[in-house]
Formats: sequence, structure tokens, C-alpha cells
Amino acid sequence: MRKPVIIGNWKMHTTAVEATDLLADLKNELAEVTDVEIGVSPPFVYINTARDILKNSNIKLGAQNVYWEPAGAFTGEISAPMLKDSGCDFVIVGHSERRHLMGETDEMVNKKIKALLNTGLIPVFCVGEKLEEREEGTTQTVIRKQVESGLDDIPVEKIKEIIVAYEPVWAIGTGKTATPQQAQEVHSFIRQLIIRLADAAAAEEIRIIYGGSVKPDNIDALMTEPDIDGALVGGASLKADSFAKIVGFKLQ
Ligand code: PEP
Repeated sequence: MRKPVIIGNWKMHTTAVEATDLLADLKNELAEVTDVEIGVSPPFVYINTARDILKNSNIKLGAQNVYWEPAGAFTGEISAPMLKDSGCDFVIVGHSERRHLMGETDEMVNKKIKALLNTGLIPVFCVGEKLEEREEGTTQTVIRKQVESGLDDIPVEKIKEIIVAYEPVWAIGTGKTATPQQAQEVHSFIRQLIIRLADAAAAEEIRIIYGGSVKPDNIDALMTEPDIDGALVGGASLKADSFAKIVGFKLQ
């Protein structure tokens, strides 16, 4: 039985005061939740603050990016051991904003996933097609390449530790959500790929979450689909009440 996981991606939002208030409100509002794994990923500069506020809470801490080398002359980068040392549990990699705005390639994503697994951090590995790719009918080809390249040379027993996030690029920050059926189709396709890349047990265990304009009013229908194990939430994770409502989804 896969435990649902809901993760907030704050992107490049919040001031120090806003981050502190949001974390304190989330800690308070979500204190009783035990049946859903919860995570937040603030900007790097607030991670230590978040670690202190979230101490002894049921909210896991994550980062939005990582560099694959453990240390060295890489100005401006942050390594997996640094994030581990700062109290992180997971790290988002391959987010479409990093792929399409910052030029992150499948090969870079693969190196980042390996660095995280070697450091004991959970990768939240994002994949997703662009609007024109969906319209051309190449969604599965795009997803297959991203999944195969991202998981290249990763041991079978490690694959199940990863959280895969299916995030259609056309649904991120646009207010357009994939229908539950559209998302389920791709989630099921990814699970089939995992059977081939690892094995049936890993495919059964791995969590595949959906991202793209998830809101309190569409989470219930998404979570009812058999292969949707949670959500990666951008905009709606910046308000404690909307994020708490998403975490409190009801199966339909
Ligand atoms: C995201 O940042 O991963 C995301 C899905 O954003 P939004 O929920 O705002 O579409």
C-alpha cells in the first residue's frame, strides 16, 4: 500500500517573514495528519529556518535543486551533502522550469538523482511533456526518454525510493489541470516503464505524484485514480489553508 505524499514547491517565493509565518501555520494546521506524507520545499536561503521550525513535526523538508558534485569549485551551487547537513529529506530535480528555463538536461538530472541517492536524500524526479508534444501525440515518447535517461544506471533496489512527479508543462502555473483520466494514463504508463527498468515489486512500491495547477477543488478527483499517489503543488502551497485542504483530500 503506497502512502500518499503531498509536496509544496514554493519556487522563488516568500520573504523571510512570510516563510516563517507560513511554516508555523502549516505546522499548526497539519499537526494531526498521519495518513499522508507531507513535504515543503522553500528556497535554499530559508532551509535552516525551516529545519528549526519544522523540528519534531510531521512535515518533511526539501530543496528545489542540487548540484551533483559533493564539494568543490562550483560557484553558486549547493551539494547533496550540504542539503543533508541542513536537515533536508528530499530534493526536487528536473522540474520543468529548470529543464526549460535553465537548460537542465536528462543527463544532468540523472547525475543529480545519483548524488541524492548516494547521500540518503529522496529525489522527487519531475517529468512532463510540453503542450506541442501532447498535441503532436508524442507524450509517451517524451516521458519514456525522460524516465529512461533519468533512471539510467540506477540500481533496481534504489529506484523504488524515488518519487516520480508527472508534471505536464502546459498545466504548471497555468490554471489548466490535466483531467484525472489524462494524468492516470501517463501515471500508468510510467508504472509500466518501472516494471521494465526495475521490476514489478518496485513498480508497485514507487510513488508517482501529479503536478500542474493542483488546487483544493481538483485534488479529490485526481487522488481517486489508482496510479496517482499524491501531488506536487506550486501556487496553492503558498497559503497554509489551501495547502492544508489539499493534504486533507477525500477519495471520491
Ligand atoms: C510546480 O511548481 O511543480 C507546480 C505544479 O506548480 P503549480 O501547482 O502552480 O501549477
